[in-house]
Amino acid sequence: MVHRWETSGSVWLEDEHTAQFELASSEGLGRVEREAQSRGRLPDIAHLLGASLPLSCDCSPIYPEGFAFCPTCGAPLDKLAGRGTPPPDWWGPWSDRLLPRHVPHGLSVTALALGDSLEERPAAPAPGRPDRTMPAPPNAHCVFAAGAFGFSAQRLIALAHARNVLQYWDPLGAAWHVMAAEDNTSDLTFSAPASSYAWLPAPDPLRGEVGLVPTDRGLRRLFIDPVSETWRTESVFDGHLASAPGTMRRHVACLVNGEAGVRLWSAHSDMSNEVVYECEAPAGHWERPVGYDGKLFWLHAQGQMVWQPGAPPQWIAWPAGWSPRLQFGGPTQSRDGRLWQIGHDGQAYSFLELGKADGQLEALSGARLGFASLLFRRGHAVVGEPWGQEHVEDPHDDDAMVLPLLRGFNNNRSQPSGLVLRFHQYTGMAEDALAGRIIARTTVEWIGKRNVILDDIARLARPLECVPFVYDNCLWLHHPDWNQVRGWHLDALS
Ligand SMILES: [Zn+2]
Repeated sequence: MVHRWETSGSVWLEDEHTAQFELASSEGLGRVEREAQSRGRLPDIAHLLGASLPLSCDCSPIYPEGFAFCPTCGAPLDKLAGRGTPPPDWWGPWSDRLLPRHVPHGLSVTALALGDSLEERPAAPAPGRPDRTMPAPPNAHCVFAAGAFGFSAQRLIALAHARNVLQYWDPLGAAWHVMAAEDNTSDLTFSAPASSYAWLPAPDPLRGEVGLVPTDRGLRRLFIDPVSETWRTESVFDGHLASAPGTMRRHVACLVNGEAGVRLWSAHSDMSNEVVYECEAPAGHWERPVGYDGKLFWLHAQGQMVWQPGAPPQWIAWPAGWSPRLQFGGPTQSRDGRLWQIGHDGQAYSFLELGKADGQLEALSGARLGFASLLFRRGHAVVGEPWGQEHVEDPHDDDAMVLPLLRGFNNNRSQPSGLVLRFHQYTGMAEDALAGRIIARTTVEWIGKRNVILDDIARLARPLECVPFVYDNCLWLHHPDWNQVRGWHLDALS
């Protein structure tokens, strides 16, 4: 005999003989397989659902939501329901909806107050080490998102979009789980280069709802079921996507490969009012869009697509002979608020004003790495105009090259701060450092009110594959070559 217990979100069964509880069903979840509830997964499931766990007795491994005492022996339980709000979401460094409008969206900029914690550490040149590590996900070429996804606790997922593999981190079991597709015709593969991926969070997620994901077959709404360790998708629209989606003022848009070239698909945020524009632009891969000044910008090796909601998109080819250096970071702003992209005309580097057919060009004496006003010329920060003189604090920094990874946006600071990699004793070309070359010594640094060395890395290759993310009140740094993800504690973020 089993007794049935109904809570507001779930149905539980209590075995009359053993007095043990098991989950029968829960809101937003698919079929709960009884055998799937291995004992090792139960603490994670209890935290996700806001159920209860035993503290001192051994009567049942899990109890329904809201149980404060064991019904068998009366011992107090660990009641997880209503335990505070989860830490802030993370959707990749390019997706922060809390940024003000005057900061470009879609670049690696976060409004989370990372500097407040990291700058409390000993200043450079004091060596630093990570506070925590976690194993790298088994499919290591991936993007990360941390969110509650409609559950009671924050969780981390890692999508290897080139391989159609979604991975789930169980923090209590300290293990990655590969989630299975509920329906084997679903496919999360998005085969554009890794730098171009972006997913969009669901603003008010249902239980298990992750958000909007680009795939080779179209835009999909992704849902996860961490109890059965499965995922499923719902179709938003079908088409061979050429770019990640972006949002601008209650509109969503992305580029789609058509027969003759590329199309721009757009809709309102609720997916009503779909519009498709035909464009005279090359098919193929595009960078993820940057939102700025009421427009979305998609950059391509051959030009830029500029779109303002409500109007047809505009394709602007780069000036003849000029090619962008998209790998250097992304667009940056001048003091007057215009947006610029670095490139090379075969003779020298220059910044080109974006969004105009005859954009202004500003000549440069050398490469500059960065984006969104976090910009470096070799080891020196560029704090004025993007093409202005670098700020030389220490001439020894000439022998280094700094690659910005993540800017920490802070309204109260005149100088940008952020997470960077510093390549020591590197005097070669920026292009080579970002490609296959092995860099003998790199430090991970936070640049801010004080500069802090977070870690020292020997023999780094392909630095652009470094992925920073924020989860569980830590800043983490992942690289597909590393077995461990490195983490640094942050004070509780709000
Ligand atoms: Zn008990």
